[in-house]
Amino acid sequence: MTERWYETDSYTTDFDATVLSAEQADGVTKVVLNGTFFFPEEGGQSQDRGTLGGFPVTDVQIKDGVIVHIVACPTRVGETAADSMQEKTTACAIHAGETIHGTVDWDFRFKNMQMHSAEHIFSGLVFRLYGFANVGFHLSENSATMDYNGVLTEEDVTRLEMLANRTIIENHPIRAWYPSEEELKTLSYRSKKALTGPIRLVEVQDVDLCACCVPHVRSTGEIGCMKILSRENYKGGVRLHYIGGFRAIEHYGAALKLIGDAGQRLSVKPDGIVSAIEKLILDNKELNYRLVEAERATVDSKIRDTYSAAPSENFLLFLPGDGAILRYAADTAEQYCTGTCALFAGDDERGYRYLLENPNGSVTELQALLKTELAARGGGTEHSVSGRVTATEEDISTLLNRLGFR
Ligand SMILES: [Zn+2]
Repeated sequence: MTERWYETDSYTTDFDATVLSAEQADGVTKVVLNGTFFFPEEGGQSQDRGTLGGFPVTDVQIKDGVIVHIVACPTRVGETAADSMQEKTTACAIHAGETIHGTVDWDFRFKNMQMHSAEHIFSGLVFRLYGFANVGFHLSENSATMDYNGVLTEEDVTRLEMLANRTIIENHPIRAWYPSEEELKTLSYRSKKALTGPIRLVEVQDVDLCACCVPHVRSTGEIGCMKILSRENYKGGVRLHYIGGFRAIEHYGAALKLIGDAGQRLSVKPDGIVSAIEKLILDNKELNYRLVEAERATVDSKIRDTYSAAPSENFLLFLPGDGAILRYAADTAEQYCTGTCALFAGDDERGYRYLLENPNGSVTELQALLKTELAARGGGTEHSVSGRVTATEEDISTLLNRLGFR
């Protein structure tokens, strides 16, 4: 068992410990100490970062009470002259029995403490005011979520957020301890699961009492602030994304920058961004409408001109664009054409989308021919087929002209 020094002292980050074992495996060293201030990944919270013997600690895991520090510790090659004679002699830089110095990344740890203590306040309030339990918790550097087994409305969340921040500002003391069995019997506390063995309790005075294994701040004032970012329905209850402490301040800075950048791009002050975007959307709709009108006018005149120059039973026409106009063009062409309309939209480089239509006859044979001769792909009904073909206008024209299309 590793002594969990962080449980009684969340604030010490520099410490000396005895190495109980140091095993090399898969390019890293797994170090077990007699005690540690490194919090392992546990209780939904990511593990501490820092260094051990000057080497980066990349992971900290707990199993059966033993805390394993995964250290990116290079093996030393040939330190002595004798060693260097043997090319492959390697030795771990950390040895069992030695005293080693550990340093926990305080910035990262303190931000996690702020976030976790904020969660206890919020969950305590949810339990007291609504009777819902906190059934899920996740905390990593970039996201934090709290799950509750009942539905909290937008208004509930706003109310709880205000009360949580009031609790923060009132600066309630927070303490963590292992109560005796007798004391534990007299206490009513929250817990995510049924616990066995000694139970560590964390109390936010006058607000919450909860079983927890994680380091906390000394008093709620150290959290600074807490903000719910979003709310979603989750497994019959709600999941809330939240932020607090220094991370909330960083988040606020990033949000302000985003708003500032958007305002600059739109040449408006922040409070004018929404109306500027609404105007852009409207302008865009208007432009699209005009574009469609212009395309249709072009198609109308092209069909009219082509047909009056060379009236034909079967009609072939090439149009620019991505094919969005094909349906409209087919309806227009039907006024002139008594047989089959074959319409192609696109260009030689990207290929063509096409529409074959004959309200009074079949286009099946023509489609089969396009497939065999030009490897076209598509389908539809006896009277109407749409598809795509990778061929040049010349190849398509040659084939269809042969069949009497003009
Ligand atoms: Zn906790």
